Amino acid sequence: MNGPLVEYKEISVPFRRTFKTALREANESHSVVIKAVLDDVVGFGESCPSLKITGESVESVKDHFPLMVERIRPFEDLVSLVSMIDSVEGCMEGNTALKCGFTSALIDAYMRKHRIRMSANPVKTDITISIGSKDEILNEIQMRLDEGFSAFKIKIGLELSRDIELVKSIRDSFGYGISLLLDANQGYTKKTARKAIDSLYRYEIDLIEQPLPAWDRKGLAQIGGGIPIMADESLFNAHDALELADRVDYFNIKLNKSGGIAEALRIASIAKARDVKCMVGCMGGETSVGVTAGFFLASLINAPLVDLDSPLLMKENPVKGGIRYEKDRIFPPAGFGFGIEGVEG
Ligand SMILES: [Mg+2]
Repeated sequence: MNGPLVEYKEISVPFRRTFKTALREANESHSVVIKAVLDDVVGFGESCPSLKITGESVESVKDHFPLMVERIRPFEDLVSLVSMIDSVEGCMEGNTALKCGFTSALIDAYMRKHRIRMSANPVKTDITISIGSKDEILNEIQMRLDEGFSAFKIKIGLELSRDIELVKSIRDSFGYGISLLLDANQGYTKKTARKAIDSLYRYEIDLIEQPLPAWDRKGLAQIGGGIPIMADESLFNAHDALELADRVDYFNIKLNKSGGIAEALRIASIAKARDVKCMVGCMGGETSVGVTAGFFLASLINAPLVDLDSPLLMKENPVKGGIRYEKDRIFPPAGFGFGIEGVEG
């Protein structure tokens, strides 16, 4: 038996509206779809690199790709698959988006080859609202409410006074029947984060995500109070999880940060042992190839919160198969493995 033939292609999809956070701004996505051809089946994975988050670019994913291919061995059973994933994860530091796409494609190929279905229950996702003018944001929330969403992740972190005014306007316009999660994408200092939490507490916020720079893990424990804190850019791997477990209330686990499902499961185990709740999230710019792997992870760990909405922020869907959206619910793929039939572009 031969090992799988692994290849890649770059894809880019326009966003419905400029995707803007305190960290970056983009009008279209850039990612790399990875295919693992194993005899008569094809497995799919996606690397969605970000210079500002994982330190990778599409170019760096392509440059390092051959080093991963060298690790490929024939795999017939689960033991050899897990051992190869270990070898791929361990062959270089960082490069987590590349590792995520590569190992996801291998896992999908294995599941397809052995005719394994996900057969998971549907999960509810929130929907992200990018930074924009107040009118743009209120109009978008109304549109998403009409589409059936009830949990909104609002991007903040550029300017404290604007953030407080915005959250007040959202509550004034839509009341308290919707869930509000705030994501500052590292935009505050400790001082502004404390002020933000003091001022926003009264608006019944479910959580505030990554208020401080990624490096300031200690700081995350020093700003608390009325709003639960979630670590995102501070959390890549199990070592980070151990450091953060007593400092935050939630972990945002993303496959492009952890380097794939294996490390994500290690983070989730630490969360369970240390009583930290998990969200499974995605990178802004993942198509439903990456999000199908994220859905698989969310199902495996029974994540209480899911933020797997990036395909909904795009103008078009280049992916045939994979997960399916119905209002704010995500349904498992039809067919075996990730159920992806092809990717255009
Ligand atoms: Mg975030």
